[in-house]
Amino acid sequence: MILIVDDIQENIFSLKRLLESKGYQTDSAPSGEEALKLAIRNNYVLIIMDVQMPDMDGFEVAETLKGLNRTKDIPIIFLTAVNRDKSFIAKGYQSGGIDYVTKPIDPEILLLKVGTFYRLYEQNQMLINTKEALRHEVEVRKRAEQNLLNRSEYLQGILESIPQIAFTTDRSGTIEFTNQKWYDYSTSQTEFPQGWPGESCYLAEWLGRTYVGETYQREVRIKNLISDEFRYHLLRITPVNLPGGEFNWVGTFTDIEDHKRIEKKKDAFISIASHELKTPLTGIRAYAQLAERSLKDSQDTKAYGFVKKTLEQSERLNALVTDLLDVANIEEGRIKLRKKFFDLEKVIENVCMGVVQSYPQRSVEITRHGEPLKEKILGDQIRIEQVLNNFLGNAVKYAPNHDRVELSTEISDGELKISVTDRGIGIPPEKLPYVFNKFYRVEESSVKFQGLGLGLFICQEIIQGHGGICGVESTPGLGSTFYFKIPLIYDNEQ
Ligand code: ADP
Repeated sequence: MILIVDDIQENIFSLKRLLESKGYQTDSAPSGEEALKLAIRNNYVLIIMDVQMPDMDGFEVAETLKGLNRTKDIPIIFLTAVNRDKSFIAKGYQSGGIDYVTKPIDPEILLLKVGTFYRLYEQNQMLINTKEALRHEVEVRKRAEQNLLNRSEYLQGILESIPQIAFTTDRSGTIEFTNQKWYDYSTSQTEFPQGWPGESCYLAEWLGRTYVGETYQREVRIKNLISDEFRYHLLRITPVNLPGGEFNWVGTFTDIEDHKRIEKKKDAFISIASHELKTPLTGIRAYAQLAERSLKDSQDTKAYGFVKKTLEQSERLNALVTDLLDVANIEEGRIKLRKKFFDLEKVIENVCMGVVQSYPQRSVEITRHGEPLKEKILGDQIRIEQVLNNFLGNAVKYAPNHDRVELSTEISDGELKISVTDRGIGIPPEKLPYVFNKFYRVEESSVKFQGLGLGLFICQEIIQGHGGICGVESTPGLGSTFYFKIPLIYDNEQ
């Protein structure tokens, strides 16, 4: 808006008409005092002011306006009498934002000057807006930076508070942060703890896999700089997503040395106990067998019944001790496989018959699916028998109300897959990943069914020894399918 200041109403009127005809909004004041009041209250783009006014003349008003913060930048066009006021303007107001038009007013010249001031005003306004936007942007960024800093301090605080050694790295594995515990195992932030020389280098292994972007987990032995001993740790390094599709790594070393020691003691105990039990047990079984044979002709006597029961119970005990021995051997890395070519069909037939016979009180029926194998295959016959026995035994044991079991063989891509399916109690999905672990038993069934939780662990070791894998699919209440796959090597390939 433009403020017109003139003590002569007609002048105000004609100027108003001229400016409003060109689309400018105007306001007017009949005196210098009135102009000052209005200028303080409103925002004007420009003031057009008559110099000669009674009381306060135009120059006085201008001087006061230039002295006030709020009005000092408003440009002024003076309306002057020729030659009389011009020199005064040139002398006193060289600071810019001041111009003059001589009377009688030439409308074209006035409009040109008004136009110039307006453009200047608009450009100025744009500059102010840009400055304001920039200031705002800087503030937003500063706040975001502060937030990020707070957040990162918070996260680092968390990593300091946990009992593990913790660190973070960038995408390529360069360390960015380590907590205080790190320095019990490393002298500098850039160096990973020293691994045990007898183990493959965990750092090289992980760095070689960072491109995969998946969690890396492994047991490692690292050197404690205070005690100078290598302690077992569980190393876990997980990718953490960052905005923009990037990711960093967060790693922890959890001390599992004490747990390992207890585990070793337990393994040693199992090993000693199973070896010590095996010898007298072999004696008991042999004598029970002899006693059974010598009482063959008097099978209806009480003594024969007792001997038979003793034999049955000692066989059960033998199976348990054998499992414990197997576990001890696995722990010592001694589960030996004697691979030869053998007739798998015969093995399947024998195992099925054995399982059916061991449940005389039930009418177990094992249905065989898949093409029978005509040629002999390479493997440890006794151990494969043991796996099948375990799968089928469990299929009957954990399906107390369903006697039907399916056994299928499938051959594809040079691999043999054998699956055993039951319609038993099944296994909850969250427990499935653990069923092949040592001593693991699903809680829900552990009270009702006897067992040590070792059979599947041993099966897995045996199958891995054949270069294969074990697996399970299950639905609680509907049943389970346990399977294994091994590479198929026929006799004629030798
Ligand atoms: P055990 O039978 O002696 O407990 P296993 O190692 O053979 O030990 O099995 C481990 C656990 O897996 C069992 O305790 C049981 O909870 C579960 N399991 C194994 N086979 C089956 C099955 N066919 N159906 C349901 N649960 C099973």
